[in-house]
Amino acid sequence: ESRPESMSSFWMPFTNNRDFKAHPRLLVSAQGMYYKDVDGNAVLDGTAGLWCVPCGHAQPKIVAAVSEMVGQLDFAPTFQMGHPAAFDLAERLMDYTNHKFGHVFYTNSGSEAVDTALKIALAYHKARGDAGRTRLIGRERGYHGVGFGGLSVGGIGPNRKAFGPLLPGVDHLPHTHNLGKNAFSRGEPEHGAELADELERIVALHDASTIAAVIVEPVAGSTGVLIPPQGYLKRLRELCTKHGILLIFDEVITGFGRLTTPFAVDYFDVEPDMMTTAKGLTNGTVPMGAVFSKKFIHDAFMEAPAGIELFHGYTYSGHPLACAASIATLEVFKEQGILENAKSLQPYWEDAVHSLRGLPHVIDIRTIGLVAGIELESIPGKPGARAFAAFKQAFADGILIRTTGDIIALSPPLVLEKKHIDELFGKLAAVLKNLD
Ligand code: PMP
Repeated sequence: ESRPESMSSFWMPFTNNRDFKAHPRLLVSAQGMYYKDVDGNAVLDGTAGLWCVPCGHAQPKIVAAVSEMVGQLDFAPTFQMGHPAAFDLAERLMDYTNHKFGHVFYTNSGSEAVDTALKIALAYHKARGDAGRTRLIGRERGYHGVGFGGLSVGGIGPNRKAFGPLLPGVDHLPHTHNLGKNAFSRGEPEHGAELADELERIVALHDASTIAAVIVEPVAGSTGVLIPPQGYLKRLRELCTKHGILLIFDEVITGFGRLTTPFAVDYFDVEPDMMTTAKGLTNGTVPMGAVFSKKFIHDAFMEAPAGIELFHGYTYSGHPLACAASIATLEVFKEQGILENAKSLQPYWEDAVHSLRGLPHVIDIRTIGLVAGIELESIPGKPGARAFAAFKQAFADGILIRTTGDIIALSPPLVLEKKHIDELFGKLAAVLKNLD
């Protein structure tokens, strides 16, 4: 009875999945590693919300920082003015990213960060008088949010179809996952850099001088935890440099410790020209995204010839609450040793993930850092149904997992302990054993 009687006016997220209305799973509170549902049941968070709560829920320092800021400075424009927390955060982010980038631009979401990065790429070439570079390249099975730019470079066919026409002049690299070869991989699967050479095929087709940027998720998250083969990202970097194409990493998921390093940039030791992030940036509290760019990109804008007027920004860019939340998040990362905890638990996590091998319907397991994809065999004619059944049973049993198609994705808050790993995989194994 505690559920709302009518869900009829609630249309979010915009999807044709009808299950939510039939059986809403309502979360009413969260603390540390656990949610509480509307019936008072504890649910272990195996997904960090939507990949966005590395420091655990209701982290006291972050809660206090946001509460304090809302009473002090509820809003301040960042057009032609600013506020100290926006500058303070920028400095701290430069430190956190080891000064690999020169500038950061604030958005309110990952989608906005992606569209901003694509716009910066297009405008960068124009600012340098290279107006012919307008093509963008994404990757099949990449997810880059729901803006028209992100949808266009994203690699989800049905979305591209449903919401088209999208941006013209977009190509997609093939995705890197080869089920037969990558099956049950730990860390980066083998078989080298030749997949990145697909970029040469696109370059040969269109000429490098027409291509503005390549955008990829270092590890594709939302579409099923697809880990690039060894050498792939390095080779992409080489090819982009060779052809004067900007390389953008979308680190909305892989940022803030998901791979046990500050960003995937550090894990793979490859430096893009721009990097987008969101989610963990504020520990999932106040919505915020960001685009990091190399200094040379920013400089090109400053040195753009007269006559090129550029404008891009959001009312809520650098919102004081988001900045306060993010500053506190970075402090918690340091004080609580979030990355160190992730690193020290990673081998235990990896073994736990691979303990699911051999259970009914499990056809692949992929894991890197503190993220895992467990792929189930689809029921013929009903793609996604088996994993969704697992999700529902898991929730009823007190663990939150995420599914995409027939892939279960796991990405817990990084403050977890061994006992949480035991609980998560103990319950998940039981669910999988009893699955039809
Ligand atoms: N890029 C990536 C890699 C993502 O995973 C997501 C969200 N899952 C986005 C962009 C979009 O972020 P948002 O939902 O905050 O707009």
